[in-house]
Amino acid sequence: MTETPITNLLDLDREGLVEFFAGRGEKSFRASQLMQWIYGHGVSDFGAMTNISKGLRNKLQDCAVIRLPEIAADSLSEDGSRKWLLRLEDGNCIEAVYIPEAERGTLCVSSQVGCVLNCSFCSTARQGFNRNLTTGEIIAQVWIAAQALGQTLDGPRYISNIVMMGMGEPLLNYDNVVRAMGIMLDDFGYGLSKRRVTLSTAGVVPAIGRLQADCDVSLAVSLHAPDDLLRNELVPLNRKYPIRELLQACRDYVGEGRRRVTFEYVMLDGVNDSDRHARQLARVLEGVPAKINLIPFNPFPDTRYKRSPDARIDRFFEILNRAGIVTITRRTRGDDIDAACGQLAGQFMDRTRRRARNQLKVEVGRT
Ligand code: SAH
Repeated sequence: MTETPITNLLDLDREGLVEFFAGRGEKSFRASQLMQWIYGHGVSDFGAMTNISKGLRNKLQDCAVIRLPEIAADSLSEDGSRKWLLRLEDGNCIEAVYIPEAERGTLCVSSQVGCVLNCSFCSTARQGFNRNLTTGEIIAQVWIAAQALGQTLDGPRYISNIVMMGMGEPLLNYDNVVRAMGIMLDDFGYGLSKRRVTLSTAGVVPAIGRLQADCDVSLAVSLHAPDDLLRNELVPLNRKYPIRELLQACRDYVGEGRRRVTFEYVMLDGVNDSDRHARQLARVLEGVPAKINLIPFNPFPDTRYKRSPDARIDRFFEILNRAGIVTITRRTRGDDIDAACGQLAGQFMDRTRRRARNQLKVEVGRT
């Protein structure tokens, strides 16, 4: 006798669940019912799904699970931000961070264990790349945070915004990220508007085009330098997709509407933070519907970079502002718990995948 494969229901979006139920002779409304239990009520046990018949609950017990990572650590920063270290089934760990602000609560979600991109100022890069997260592992970060924060269907919505800005390059795990974002947007999932879900990319140009067609959430791009020479050094992916192509993809992404792309720019002392860089940045962004997010560099052990002094950041900000570009300086949050941008580290079980990253380096170098 062959065993029925066990499906983790967190891996399926609404469409996937409809198919799952259809394949078992069940009506399609079961999909939204299940989603409301899982995401709306935060239930992970079929036994508690009281409006589902006993017969169907038993059937689900046999062929499905709602499998969540284990919370390996839960740290609270002095400023109220909170970080969860989550242990996946294979022993790898990832991190998710919650940042409460006056008007919103933002959850920063990881898309991969490690990263292949090797940006020189990012601590995730130090680890190399291990693997893509499944859809279930991505959406589970939201589930776990929502539960830990005590979010309920009719209570306050603690998680009002989600940013795909944790560990990894989301556009290199395209299908799983898009499926998970589908659940974030679904009325029976987390019901967030596209404006409140942001994907941040180092600039995987062909995938930006696809994203516009598949799930056009808000787009953030890690620019960090106004010219290719410097950007090649900071974000090696730039050798494959240089600034001109990247900015064209950004213009196409937002089209004629009122939306803007957010450009992230990490402030590195003496590297990319001079007046000249600021003026050059304003020039290259001419004609691109842009907002700029200046991120003071967050240091980590053994890095060669330093954070730009506050006065330098202010001056850089002024130049962009005067050039008419909406600019904000991102306040560092959660650095006492290593939860700030670029500090997410997680933990790997298997370090041999470093090879995958080196392979990409070769590929990038070749083009
Ligand atoms: N791979 C995606 C998602 C990571 S998002 C991307 O590159 O956009 C994390 C953001 O934090 C990116 O803008 C990244 O460039 C920035 N970042 C990385 N390391 C940092 C550091 N040490 N200090 C400040 N920002 C950093």
